[in-house]
Amino acid sequence: MKFIIANWKMHIPNIKSWQKKPNLNKDIRIIIAPPFPFLNEVKKNISWAELGAQDVFYKDFPNGGAFTGEVSASMLKYFGVKYVIIGHSERRKYGKETDEIINEKILLSLKKELQVILCIGEPLNIRLKGISATDNFLKNQLKIDLNKVTKNFQNNIFIAYEPIWAIGSGRTDSLNDITEVAGLVRKFLATKGLNKIKFLYGGSVSDSNVGEFLKSKEIDGVLVGSSSVDAKEFKKILNVVLKLK
Ligand code: PEP
Repeated sequence: MKFIIANWKMHIPNIKSWQKKPNLNKDIRIIIAPPFPFLNEVKKNISWAELGAQDVFYKDFPNGGAFTGEVSASMLKYFGVKYVIIGHSERRKYGKETDEIINEKILLSLKKELQVILCIGEPLNIRLKGISATDNFLKNQLKIDLNKVTKNFQNNIFIAYEPIWAIGSGRTDSLNDITEVAGLVRKFLATKGLNKIKFLYGGSVSDSNVGEFLKSKEIDGVLVGSSSVDAKEFKKILNVVLKLK
């Protein structure tokens, strides 16, 4: 099973262009994470994909609460959201999210039975120091992000490895390096008893490279940003995936 996750970021989608169902003949799961105001439209019009959200607040109360601008896990569930992206590097940077906040979001989302897509990734200056520095950076993120996450929840978590320098840059990581990182991340997760977590790659994925990534047994799926906003571009990616042996 491979997962293809579309992160529409703050782009305005042309929902009509997405309505036609692609000919899906494979074991793939497609998840679309639109900006919050488009969740309902995606749910109503794009029957062939599952619904994801790009973020969630770290508190949730039965009657809502005085948290201006925020959206709770319960609200996401109400709109049929099954997956939530947490800790995207753009939220870490522009929303000033810390690993501690990310951890709270994860614990709450798991409790609310959402599937968590946790984004981790290093900046370029760390990667230039080598894979061992990258491994340390990622471990430091994971240690806090997954604090108190028990193995009961491991089937509900994806790690999306997204090197920051590869996001939106047109420059992907090499399959060799991604595979090495996947091995190191899995080794770390195993020390916490989290052996079943799925590993995704994100960073300038397009129809020209998705085949190479998804052929690898180490990579359970991809998180696609820029190339997921336009239906035609995204369907080109799907076509490549559908032809994979
Ligand atoms: C992302 O936003 O998660 C992402 C990977 O973006 P892009 O595909 O544009 O690099």
